[in-house]
Amino acid sequence: MIIWGLRSRTKTLGQRMLNCPNCHRDAMTAAVQTRRWFTLFFIPIFPISGKKTIAVCGLCGFRYEVNNEQAEAMFGAAAKPLPNA
Ligand SMILES: [Zn+2]
Repeated sequence: MIIWGLRSRTKTLGQRMLNCPNCHRDAMTAAVQTRRWFTLFFIPIFPISGKKTIAVCGLCGFRYEVNNEQAEAMFGAAAKPLPNA
């Protein structure tokens, strides 16, 4: 029997002060990257969607999507990107 499924993996890029587009205050904003993976026997095999970076305002909790490259540069993710398709 083959057990397969889908799973979202998230990675926190970091936090920094950003002006929130919702409450228009300078707030500590966290950036989180998510990506959906195809899993086989609960092991992620390959990503089935592109990376998506979500920024979360620390004051009002507003979530908004930000450009991946921009977010990585802004939040100083020094991690090397994984080789992928
Ligand atoms: Zn806000």
